[in-house]
Amino acid sequence: MSRSSMRHPPVCADCTVSEPTWASINRGVLICDECCSVHRSLGRHISQVKSLKKGQWCPSQHAMVYILASNGANNIWEHTMLDPAQNKHGRRKPAPRDPLHPNKNDFIRAKYQFLSFVNKHKDSDASSIDDVSRELHSSVRTNNVETCLRLLSKGADPNYFYREKGNSPIHVAAQAGQTAQVELLCVYGADPGARDANGRPPYDYAK
Ligand SMILES: [Zn+2]
Repeated sequence: MSRSSMRHPPVCADCTVSEPTWASINRGVLICDECCSVHRSLGRHISQVKSLKKGQWCPSQHAMVYILASNGANNIWEHTMLDPAQNKHGRRKPAPRDPLHPNKNDFIRAKYQFLSFVNKHKDSDASSIDDVSRELHSSVRTNNVETCLRLLSKGADPNYFYREKGNSPIHVAAQAGQTAQVELLCVYGADPGARDANGRPPYDYAK
């Protein structure tokens, strides 16, 4: 567990129950047992859940999840709820004591399956997949993992081959020693054996 998440005891990202026992790896959030049952019902293409207590974790993936969770990755999925100008219907997230059906179930579906609360500002719609993929290519050299998750949520291609640079985001992340970024790219389907323009795979560059 990272230091920052110990400073703020974590709560379920969906219903704020304390001491969440599961993680959604591709969403970068910690969730409770009850909410996890809804995540499971949505399928792995929506949410990849793993037990914080019983799961087999490799240290870098565990670190990635805690970095994302403690740096507010949940705000990506609840963006418009946090902005009074965009939350015109006054949508609120469920409280711990609200029933699983329909309250928590409906909220979790809206949040992750229909992406009802992500930022749909005009600026983000204007940028093409090429634009967000290039932004991803440059962001993975930093330790700002939640920025990359935001770009991936906007459709950035984790396997984008940047022709002018001769490589893909995973090469850049490996070269910069950003293991959490490598983990995130892999969760989103980046090929860990992808070759760059020199025919070298990412692990050739890992420090
Ligand atoms: Zn919950």
